[in-house]
Amino acid sequence: MNIVLFGPPGAGKGTQAKKLAGHYKIPHISTGDILRANLREGTELGLAAKEYMDKGELVPDEVLIGIIKNRLAEPDCQVGFLLDGYPRTIPQADALSGILDEISKPLEVVLNIDVPDNELVIRLGGRRMCSCGASYHIKFNPPEMDGICDTCGGTLYQRDDDKDDAIRQRLKVYQEQTQPLIDYYNRMGILVTVDGTGDIDEVFADICDMLDK
Ligand code: ADP
Ligand code: ADP
Ligand code: ZN
Repeated sequence: MNIVLFGPPGAGKGTQAKKLAGHYKIPHISTGDILRANLREGTELGLAAKEYMDKGELVPDEVLIGIIKNRLAEPDCQVGFLLDGYPRTIPQADALSGILDEISKPLEVVLNIDVPDNELVIRLGGRRMCSCGASYHIKFNPPEMDGICDTCGGTLYQRDDDKDDAIRQRLKVYQEQTQPLIDYYNRMGILVTVDGTGDIDEVFADICDMLDK
């Protein structure tokens, strides 16, 4: 299955992608996770991305295209992939089509998780992350032990871009630069929208129903 998980910041893409990757046994490719790992390791790429990420802006398209091209060429993507957080602009979507054409792996579904802005602000404000990629919510999806990751025992932290100003900026960037992709993929006939307002398990069940059809 070749899938893009689409939606605004905080819609639950990462949360659903983790569950879907386990269920369908396909790799979860999150550009946000890849960039944050580079930041932690202090790579050149991480340094180049930092100033954009801190401000809630998009990292330039050229930077992302190389990352995606290399990642999709890895052997685990033979069985399919679940892209999360990419593409986010029309040039990225065009680049993705080109890359997938080259490796003869057409996109099958773009799954748009729909959640209203007021709910997104609540989700992002309460999000806590682990460096292993797990994410929690202080109210909606708390870890068993306060501040500790259930999966790896790591210490949870709040992302700098999950603070008020950056949240507002990211929602604005989403509306201006990413939302136009809804039309783009609708015209291609591969867009499916799911209601993302239910709890995590409800949304997961809806997505699986949709994909199994
Ligand atoms: P995205 O990857 O789209 O930015 P995340 O998966 O990180 O979103 O989810 C954002 C926050 O909302 C996290 O704190 C997560 O635990 C929480 N969350 C995800 N899905 C739901 C849901 N269906 N209901 C309530 N909270 C959710
Ligand atoms: P969320 O889904 O919660 O908005 P991500 O973890 O996907 O956040 O992305 C965090 C940040 O990483 C973005 O605000 C942006 O700076 C950068 N980023 C991630 N993916 C992309 C992308 N495809 N294009 C440009 N920037 C990206
Ligand atoms: Zn962890």
